[in-house]
Amino acid sequence: MAGEPQADCLFCKIVAGEVPATVVRESQTIVAFRDINPQAPTHVLVIPKAHYPDAASLAAAEPQLAVDVLLEAGEVAAAENIVAGDSGPGTGYRIVFNTGSGAGQTVFHAHAHVLGGRGLNWPPG
Ligand code: C5P
Repeated sequence: MAGEPQADCLFCKIVAGEVPATVVRESQTIVAFRDINPQAPTHVLVIPKAHYPDAASLAAAEPQLAVDVLLEAGEVAAAENIVAGDSGPGTGYRIVFNTGSGAGQTVFHAHAHVLGGRGLNWPPG
């Protein structure tokens, strides 16, 4: 059934506590944890506890849950003091949903990368 845990999904295992992660926020519907291979001083992944393979399928099936992920990304940014304010490197942050292997997605459980704490170039690589 849509949203059910998948036995072969790494992030479902993190949700279940079967794989360790450094959790920074948790609610009934989401978990946020530090990326094990950080690409910026702040690099946190926000995931729905329910399993959907990518952001688009999550939004299509459970729009409010997709909103929860975005709201939690904002809460992570606030807690990490990377919210846009003064201009300059290290202020502001990026929310990234890699979607599809060609775009760099390696874990097929929807997740938002929250990246900040340094200057971020545009366009991304
Ligand atoms: O967008 P993508 O699917 O590539 O992102 C997956 C992310 O999950 C990677 O940034 C990777 O470092 C992270 N990861 C993690 N903990 C794991 C396995 C992967 O934070 N145990």
